[in-house]
Formats: sequence, structure tokens, C-alpha cells
Amino acid sequence: MLTNDFQVLDKRFTRYAMGNVHLETLYTGSRWAEGPAYFAAGEYLIWSDIPNDRLLRYDETDGSVSEFLKPCRNHNGHTVDREGRLVSCEHRGRCVSRVEIDGSVTILADSYNGKRLNSPNDVVVKSDGSIWFTDPTYGIDSEYEGDKADAEQEGSYVYRIDPASGAVTAMITDMVKPNGLAFSPDESVLYVADTGATHVENGPRHLRAFHVGAGGALSGGDVLATCDTGLFDGFRIDIHGNIWTSAGDGVHCLTPQGELIGKILTGEVVANVEFGGIKRNRLYICATTTLRAVYLNTRAAFRPN
Ligand code: MG
Repeated sequence: MLTNDFQVLDKRFTRYAMGNVHLETLYTGSRWAEGPAYFAAGEYLIWSDIPNDRLLRYDETDGSVSEFLKPCRNHNGHTVDREGRLVSCEHRGRCVSRVEIDGSVTILADSYNGKRLNSPNDVVVKSDGSIWFTDPTYGIDSEYEGDKADAEQEGSYVYRIDPASGAVTAMITDMVKPNGLAFSPDESVLYVADTGATHVENGPRHLRAFHVGAGGALSGGDVLATCDTGLFDGFRIDIHGNIWTSAGDGVHCLTPQGELIGKILTGEVVANVEFGGIKRNRLYICATTTLRAVYLNTRAAFRPN
């Protein structure tokens, strides 16, 4: 029997949800939990508590939670690159940064066309080493999640950092507030959430799918799915290509074609998720004040080398 934490909307979802498995609460006390990133080598998860200007760390080996970094320039999204380094979106720093293996911090991108970025929100690293990130204005809209400031960029774009030259290129310029992003397992599709409904009446609350061509050139960009409760913010892709995305009532599971087949109900707004655990079959969920986790019968997509 599935517990009440799961809501099945399509029989296909029962392949991934397991009986007698409960959603666990691992920590409570965040103001706005975001940006989870799992370090397999150390068996721990770090995540952002943006208004409290800190990163937290959940240790899988003993279940303890500690402050990992405070202050942290209001980090939002994170990822771990293919060399195991932490890549961060900094609201207050208005940049994308990376912690090197000696602990020093490198600023990878803080401007485009000679103007400051808005406030990088979420980030993903492609297998060719290129770093893709979104740059909406949430971190400069108020003092709550960064330093309030006027935008210097004309819009909120999705950028690519070239792995060889470090050049920053705007790849998507027609979204209102691009937010979470991830590649399909074979990297032929880039999914990007647009949370523009926060700023535009009846604005976007959807995911779009872009075809990724040679050198990262994008085409397409059709709307794949529209969120039925709240907004799609951050998300991750499993080994089957399913999209496990944040939403207003929990985590939604979408097929690669964008069909909503099931939900994990959290009772709090979810901002982002990450696969962790030794087998990468445990979904960590950043749900406003709490860090949750649930085991699934699927695993993180590992992109081909
Ligand atoms: Mg986000």
C-alpha cells in the first residue's frame, strides 16, 4: 500500500512510488529552503536558506544538520560539477561562483554585455563542462533574499558559460522569469521553468523544452507542462527521463512528454529537489521551512561521459 504521502494520477506513477514508504522530515527551521546539492563522496547534502543568508548541511551518515556557511551572500541554486566542485548561484553576490578543491572561490560569471547580472537562481553543468544558469530578478526585488537593486539587464535570461573561454552567452531571452533548469539524460533536451506569474498577471507557470544541438545551440522551446498548483521552480531528472519538479503542493512527477502522473504531497510549498543517497534513489525536498526526503524506485540520471 502506498502511504498518503503519494498521490497517484496515472498508473505509471506506481512504478516509482513504493509501498510503506513515508515522506520523512529531516530538518525544520528554514525560512525559504532552496538549492539542494548532494555530495556523493561525503554522503551529505547542502542546501540554501536564502532569507537567513546561510547554507545548511545534512549528514546522511548520522542525520545531523549543521550550518555549513553563514553568511553566504544569499545563495540560491547549487550543483556539483563533474569534478565534484560546488557551483553556486549567489543572489547578493549577483554571480555564479565555484569552490575549488583548495577551498578558494572563483567567480565564474557576474556580468553580461558589461552590465551586472540580476541574481542567478539555478544552475546545471553539462557533460562538456559548460555551465548553464538562469538569471531572474528575485534576489534584487527586495531586501529579503539579497540586496534590493534596479536591474541592469534588459531582461531575465538563461546563460551558458563556455568551459574553455569562460565567455558568458545569453541562450534564451524570451522568458519572463527563468528559474529551474535541467538536461534530459542524453542531454538532447534542456528543460527550463518560467515562474513569470510572480510578476505578470496570468504570466507563465510552466516548463519549456528546448532541443539541444551541436555546440549547445537551442531550438524549439515549446511549453511542455503548466503547473496546476503554484509554480514549477527547481527540478531534477531521473534515469528514465521523468521530471521531478517542485510545485505549490509538493513534488510533481512529469513524464518526458510533460504528462503529470503523480505527486508527493508535502503540505508546504516546494522550491527545489535533489537525488541523493548512495544509490541516488532518495529524493531530497526543500519545502519552505523543512528539508524532507523520500525513497523512490528510480534514481538520478547520470549523464554519459
Ligand atoms: Mg529557483
